[in-house]
Amino acid sequence: MKAKANNKVSGNNYIQIIFDSCRYDSFVEARPKTIRKLGKLEQRWSYASWTAPSHYNLLSGLLPHSSPARVFASEYYKQDFLKFSERLGIEGIGFKSLIPKLYFPAFLKESLGYRTHAMVSLPVLNPRTVLNHGFDTYRLMDDHNDMRAMVRDMHFGEDKPSYFLLNVGETHYPYALPGEPKEDWPRISGVHGVFKHLDDHVVGGKLAKSNGNFFNRGQMKMLNDRQVKAVKHLDRVVEELFDIVPKNTYITVTADHGELFGESGFFGHGPIFHKKVFEVPFIEGKLR
Ligand SMILES: [Zn+2]
Repeated sequence: MKAKANNKVSGNNYIQIIFDSCRYDSFVEARPKTIRKLGKLEQRWSYASWTAPSHYNLLSGLLPHSSPARVFASEYYKQDFLKFSERLGIEGIGFKSLIPKLYFPAFLKESLGYRTHAMVSLPVLNPRTVLNHGFDTYRLMDDHNDMRAMVRDMHFGEDKPSYFLLNVGETHYPYALPGEPKEDWPRISGVHGVFKHLDDHVVGGKLAKSNGNFFNRGQMKMLNDRQVKAVKHLDRVVEELFDIVPKNTYITVTADHGELFGESGFFGHGPIFHKKVFEVPFIEGKLR
């Protein structure tokens, strides 16, 4: 199939699932059997340390990178964009295809005739942000931690292929599974009550430190364990997704950035410069 500027070209359905804040080793520890069916798990690196710039980068077509040595950036980008031919099942897609907008959803919708949908969990990605460009539908979910609600609302048309961006919040602080009472969520002293601002406030160690109430080692372990548990839960939700996707659906599962659980005195992500804040899982493939 050739990538031409018309609305009749068909291709694979494509789903990008972003486990917000899920660091690589939490994913490994959770041993998600269903997600592993997609392909080989890779350790990759996000281009940014927090949600908004990282999603902008993802939507420009650059997924977390493999940080290869002795390779020019231009060559890496070129090779990385060629992967979209495989993901979409459409020949001839490269960096030039995205010029001049450099925005993947707009390219899918306007040049390839895809139906494009975003379902996001984090308020910093809400539909009023500039990220909402090139999408037919773009929703901030009612709850920040319910991927199952997304799966329930996914529909695939037969006339056109679909693209979905799913920003999944179960793996984001406070790593709460749907149904867990809010009173049981772990809290950073001083930030309770501004949860709606999530990534504005609940990022990085600075805020917690300025309040003089930094988590101790036991609490860090508990928080890390909660993120691992969230991935185990999401593996079951992904199984439900696998059950409903049509043939010819390609799926990428990754994270927008990692998370710090006490290393070098940091918690969270955002205003942190540390290897673990960039370390993310990356796995993708076609189911059948
Ligand atoms: Zn994030």
